[in-house]
Amino acid sequence: MRKKLRVVSFFIFALLLIATYLIYTENENLTFNVVKETPRCVNSILDNPTQTTGNLSVHFLNVSQGDSILILNNNQNILIDCGPNGKGDEISAYIQGLGISDMDYLIITHTDSDHIGGCEEILKNFNVKMIFMDGQVKDTVSYRDVLKLIDKEQLVIPDVCFSTNIGSGVIQFIHGNVNSENANQNSLVLTMKYGKTSFLFTGDCDSNCEKSLLNQEVDVDFLKIAHHCSEYGTTEEFLDKTTPRIGFISVGKNSYGHPTENCLLRLNEQGVRAYRTDLNGNIIIISDGENYWVSSEK
Ligand SMILES: [Zn+2]
Repeated sequence: MRKKLRVVSFFIFALLLIATYLIYTENENLTFNVVKETPRCVNSILDNPTQTTGNLSVHFLNVSQGDSILILNNNQNILIDCGPNGKGDEISAYIQGLGISDMDYLIITHTDSDHIGGCEEILKNFNVKMIFMDGQVKDTVSYRDVLKLIDKEQLVIPDVCFSTNIGSGVIQFIHGNVNSENANQNSLVLTMKYGKTSFLFTGDCDSNCEKSLLNQEVDVDFLKIAHHCSEYGTTEEFLDKTTPRIGFISVGKNSYGHPTENCLLRLNEQGVRAYRTDLNGNIIIISDGENYWVSSEK
């Protein structure tokens, strides 16, 4: 009888041990995904208008499913992301067609292939002065091929709140790598101010990443919709805070259901005019610092 009791208590003890382990690991997984608090930028570049020199243009390139955005002002330029694999030469041809051979900044928001995929060709085709990355390491061919082409002196992993000029405009990084195991949540996010007009470029920063942006000054005129208008980003709360007039969705054929119906509905309900690269082709917005014009291929 005593032996039986001992066996039973051993089993109860073992069960408790397993249950504790399961609860612990589950919690560990939960806490692992929580985004660390990013510092609030005390001096937001959005607070003050910048000088202007002619027009600034932002080109949302139709690269199918992925992002690639070119910004030009006063003989300076930035490329944000390079689209998916196989799109680098197409993007290069577009930029070279504008008479550009030197690139001031290449910003790779994160290491997913629909953002870094075409960067190998970009780095081969242009003399890139500075490259901003989020510092994530990824075990993919695209990532390794890109890293091989980057010199240490070119690469900057920007601190949150770091700001710099583009022509007469100014950009500021307001989110960076928070060591989330979901690569999207580590996206570099930046604001840009030109004259009185303002932009927010979000990479694939949705869900937790987007929540952490609520901590920043993000009231803008023009919003690059996060993560191809996924279900988990561009919330009502976020749109209330950002109050954009126009949203730009970089999206192509995909199996994720992007852009989701609910995301488009939220934009519509908040009165945000949405342009989509899959429907409109390349989209260009021009700002003179006060007024703006949007044009698209289709
Ligand atoms: Zn993406």
